[in-house]
Amino acid sequence: MPTQPDIAPPPLLDLDEPPPYGVLNPDGASDVLLLCEHALPRIPRRLAHLGLPKSERMRHIGWDIGALALARDLSARLDAALFHTGYSRLVVDCNRPLDNPSLMPEISETTAIPGNRGLAATDRAERLETLFHPFQSAVSRRLDLRSAAGKPTFVVGVHSYTPVYKGLPRPWHAGIFYAGATEFAGRLIGALAQESGLVIGDNEPYRIDHDDYTVPVHGDARGLPALLIEVRHDLISTAQGVADWAERLERCLRLSMGAQT
Ligand SMILES: [Zn+2]
Repeated sequence: MPTQPDIAPPPLLDLDEPPPYGVLNPDGASDVLLLCEHALPRIPRRLAHLGLPKSERMRHIGWDIGALALARDLSARLDAALFHTGYSRLVVDCNRPLDNPSLMPEISETTAIPGNRGLAATDRAERLETLFHPFQSAVSRRLDLRSAAGKPTFVVGVHSYTPVYKGLPRPWHAGIFYAGATEFAGRLIGALAQESGLVIGDNEPYRIDHDDYTVPVHGDARGLPALLIEVRHDLISTAQGVADWAERLERCLRLSMGAQT
């Protein structure tokens, strides 16, 4: 009697679930290439919400509140390509290197993530193959194409952050985070500082280092100016707030890139 073939386990994403990442305006004319690595709080159905209640999944540990709306608006205003993730940073964080403990965090801020506890190597590999690598490869391919076409690129990650972290209030309205791109970042910080009433962080409240992926890999390693913009999420939690910040960041980014853009 013939043996039954092994039944393959179900894939991480069902066929009716959204794709691992999204792309808007890939052939946009702008020299800016926008990334949004913490765009959405969605969790693959098979992972059963990672064992978290909705109140935890929807707060800032699950995604950057308002960041995708801001990135979309900026993409339209600048005519810039935008690559964004499709699933929560709690499933796999697309702005972390592969050896980083917070790539698939067992604890985020002060919340234990039951569905990430003691993950098997096969589970980790599946999340990387399904979600992390497709996003990074899409960005890399686009950067390769732009480079081959002789097109300059400024890599800009769009993020938001919580006004209060582990009980401590943060005074900045927005922060610019960078490592190698000191000139580009300096011009952008200078432009934002001209806006009335704003407190802008310069690599505060943390620094870009080996715990990041976008800036070191997609930017600095390629010799491209790269930075992250983080806006305090209570400032972009309404449509008006998003529009105000998109208009401001468009103006300041154009100033920072030089007159030709
Ligand atoms: Zn973020």
